[in-house]
Amino acid sequence: MEYDLLVRGHVLDPGQGLDGPMDVAVTGGRVTAVAPRLDAARARRVIDATAPGRHVVPGLIDLHTHVAHGAITPGVGMEGCDPDDIGVRAGVTTVVDAGSVGVANIGVFGAFIQPRARTRVVPFLNVGSHAHTMPSMVDVHDLAEIDRAAIARCVAANPGLVRGVKLRLVGPLVAERGKEVVAAAKDVAREHGVPLMVHIGDLSAHRRPEPERLTPVTRFAVDQLDPGDILTHLCTPNPGGATDMDAALIEARERGVILDAALGRGNFGHRVAREQRERGLPPDTVSSDLTLAGQGFHSLVECMAKFLAVGYDLPDVVRMTTANAARALGMGEELGAIAPGRAADLTILDVVAGDFAFVDTARETFHGTRALAPVHTVKGGELFAPGWGAHPWGWLPARRGHEVAP
Ligand SMILES: [Zn+2]
Repeated sequence: MEYDLLVRGHVLDPGQGLDGPMDVAVTGGRVTAVAPRLDAARARRVIDATAPGRHVVPGLIDLHTHVAHGAITPGVGMEGCDPDDIGVRAGVTTVVDAGSVGVANIGVFGAFIQPRARTRVVPFLNVGSHAHTMPSMVDVHDLAEIDRAAIARCVAANPGLVRGVKLRLVGPLVAERGKEVVAAAKDVAREHGVPLMVHIGDLSAHRRPEPERLTPVTRFAVDQLDPGDILTHLCTPNPGGATDMDAALIEARERGVILDAALGRGNFGHRVAREQRERGLPPDTVSSDLTLAGQGFHSLVECMAKFLAVGYDLPDVVRMTTANAARALGMGEELGAIAPGRAADLTILDVVAGDFAFVDTARETFHGTRALAPVHTVKGGELFAPGWGAHPWGWLPARRGHEVAP
C-alpha cells in the first residue's frame, strides 16, 4: 500500500488558493500527494468527505486557549481545558496556551501536558509568576511579579518550552503603571527572542474609577509591539479596547504585528467586529480563548461561525485559523497548509445552513445563517473522532429563539 490514508473531498486551503474537489494522500504522518484524483485502491484507508457542504481544510490552529489542565487547583484559579477536548476532539490540531501559568508552574507543560496530549500544544509563559493559578484575574499586581531572573533560569533549563510571553492589560497596576508593565513584559520577550502576546480589554475596569485610563496603555502597547508580536481580543467592547486606534493598528499590522480576535466570554462585541470589518480592519486570526468554564457552550468552530455572521466568508475564517495562525506562530512552513512534505494535519468539517443565534459579551444577540461542525480530525496522519460538541445538543450554535447567554 502506497498511502496510509486518502482523503477525498472539497479541499479548502485559502493560504494556497486551493478550493475544489481534491484527493489528499498521507503516508508516515505526512501529506505525500494532493491532486484532483489519486488511486484510492492504493490506500489502506479512505475517508470519503464528498458529502454536500463538507470541506477538507488544513488542521485548525487555535492561537489563544487555556489548557493548563491539572496545573490549576479547582475552586482556586481559572481552570484550563484538557487540550484534546478542545483540540483533536474538536477539529483543532494545534492549540496555544496563552499564558495560563507563569514561571512558577510552566514546567507542567513539559512534564505532563505535552507528553499526554495528542494535540500539538504550544505554551506561552505568563509574565506574571502566578497567572491563572490564583483567584485574581490579574496577571501582575506588582512589578516584582515579573521575575526576569526566574524566567531566565526557566528558559535556560527548559530549552524550547517557552514559545511566547503573555501579558493581560487587566487590573489596577496596569491602569496606574501600564507603560512600565508593558515595557517590562516586552523586555522579557525580547530577551528570550519570543513573541509577546498582549491581551487588551478589561471587563473589571467598569468597577474602578476612570476606566478610560486604560486607553493610552493599550495605545502604548500597540506602538511597542514588534513584528511577530500578537495583539489579542481585537474586537473587545471593554475599556482598554482598540476601537479608536485604527491607524495605529494598521501601522502595527504593516510592520508584522498579528491582530488576533480571541473571543472568549468577556471580549467579543459583534458590533465592534462588524464595524472593524466595514472600516477595513479584519483580524489576522480568530481564536477561542477557551477555558474550562467555556467548554460547555463555546468552541473554535463556533467562533469561526460568529465571524461568518458578522460578514466574513468561509475562506476568510479558514485562512484566519490555518495559514495566518501558522504564520503567527512562526510555523508557516510547517503548519497551516495541505501540501506534500507537511505534517498531515487536516480538519474535515461540515458547513451547515440554518438560522443561528449568538450572544456577545454585551449580551446582545446576533444572527448568522451558517455554522461549522467538525467531522474528522487528522493529526500527523492519525484519525480522531470529534467529541459530542460544546453544547448539550452538539456542535452547532443555538437556533434563533433559543439563544444561550455566553
Ligand atoms: Zn485568554
